[in-house]
Amino acid sequence: MQVATGKSILDGIAIGPVHFYRKVDMVITPVSALTPAEELARFATAQAKAQEQLGLLYDKALAEVGEDNAAIFEIHQMMLEDDDYVEAIQSIIETQKATAEYAVSTTGENFSATFAAMDDAYMKARAVDVKDVSHRLVNILTGVGEASLLGDQPVILVADDLTPSETVQMDKSKLLGFVTRKGSTNSHTAILARTMNIPALIGVDIDESWDGKLGIIDGYNHCVYIDPTTDLHATLERKRQSDLQQRALLQGLKGMPNETLDGRKVNLYANIGNVGDVGLVLQNDATGIGLFRSEFIYLNSHDYPTEDEQFAIYKQVAETMGGKKVIIRTLDIGADKQADYFNLDKEENPALGFRAIRICLTRKEIFKTQLRAILRASAYGKVSIMFPMITSLWEVKDAKATLAECRKELEDAGIPVGEVEIGIMIETPAAVMVADDLAQEVEFFSLGTNDLTQYTLAIDRQNPKLDRFYDPHHPAVLRLIRMTIEAGHRHNCWVGICGELGADSTLTETFLRMGIDELSVSPSSILPLRKIVRSLDLSKESQV
Ligand code: PEP
Ligand code: MG
Repeated sequence: MQVATGKSILDGIAIGPVHFYRKVDMVITPVSALTPAEELARFATAQAKAQEQLGLLYDKALAEVGEDNAAIFEIHQMMLEDDDYVEAIQSIIETQKATAEYAVSTTGENFSATFAAMDDAYMKARAVDVKDVSHRLVNILTGVGEASLLGDQPVILVADDLTPSETVQMDKSKLLGFVTRKGSTNSHTAILARTMNIPALIGVDIDESWDGKLGIIDGYNHCVYIDPTTDLHATLERKRQSDLQQRALLQGLKGMPNETLDGRKVNLYANIGNVGDVGLVLQNDATGIGLFRSEFIYLNSHDYPTEDEQFAIYKQVAETMGGKKVIIRTLDIGADKQADYFNLDKEENPALGFRAIRICLTRKEIFKTQLRAILRASAYGKVSIMFPMITSLWEVKDAKATLAECRKELEDAGIPVGEVEIGIMIETPAAVMVADDLAQEVEFFSLGTNDLTQYTLAIDRQNPKLDRFYDPHHPAVLRLIRMTIEAGHRHNCWVGICGELGADSTLTETFLRMGIDELSVSPSSILPLRKIVRSLDLSKESQV
């Protein structure tokens, strides 16, 4: 038996024969026997054929994985017609008297290298796409056609890398899972895997000798087994069967209201860390996004993300959610979440230090860049803003004034901005104690129970030695949650929980009885929670 580890894109078990996918390396002849005019005509024909293929792929993706994921093929269609790209190809054909395939392949490589070197994250990501488009054109020009990825039997696909078009073209009934050496968890390929609900591992040291052998992807433990022992095979097959049963039961709850037997409704929203998580949100039928931890955009970057970079991300999330609520939490950096380029001082007590809203209210240029990006995205969906780590009323007033300033600047410049609901996180005991005042400034509260527990119990949540003292069920924490809900409701402010405690099924009934309006949890917790909510009857005496 061999074991290789990687990064899991989706929890789950896949068992089946390994199919090793080798991309066909075609020989591209540079010098043409034809005239440049004839090569230009070949290129134009291939371009039209590629447009047609991409149109079909778009329709297939739209039907199978939704508009957002299908959009990549529209981007490819636009690239095919991009003036700079087309002119570069034509120029190589004309000046070097080269074949169309050589001109396309060279241009693809050049553009890809240029995009990859750019600072703008959106443009960087286009490096893969321009290669993909060029590969398609070269396939058409050389008559190689689309390499067949899968055989007749369902397989675990092992490949060096997979492009989005390769992934979406796969016949899902033949694909049990995939393992690649390259790829990132934010790539479109990863997004597609999540949306298609296929166990997948990336960053694995793959080996051609696996071809044809029995493989098991264990997404829970981030590894793949080749030629597993009989015992391991049996154990993981049992786990796979139980996953299937669980999932089938839960899938039946899709489209069902989050409503107790006696008619009490609650919103079940999802927490996300990046745009790649939106597929899971949709797959698990969340009513909205209750916490977009925007700081991950900053942590994934080597420099301050620009307004345009952030706007592209927020817009994509808002559009994909198609009118469902998306609550973007403003930058919550500091403490355990550090990015070098912020040049933050080393602190004695970082959890009590210069972090989150404290940084934003001090370094307004960073804050305003983010607020402008969020406001611009609000024209494309139902966007809400939430400020983290609030302790005082003046912080909320200052943050709101800065937001109003950004709105005015955008409006004066004629840039569209939508309506934005404003909320704050309640994650310090101070915020709970002044919740009546805070509630008059905002439209919602979201309880950050991870930090609320830390600050209430005076326990560093990063310190593993204190695990047994870190008790989010502590009566003090539960009492603060109740006080927050009551204060919010006194002032027409809805109240949710976006900390991990929101997914604690032993407390769902307690929270509902307290009057909670929303629970925002990881996408995979949505359907299990819906099941619990639907089984409760609050008209009966409490069972907890
Ligand atoms: C929280 O503190 O509960 C919360 C949701 O924020 P984070 O875990 O990102 O600090
Ligand atoms: Mg927090």
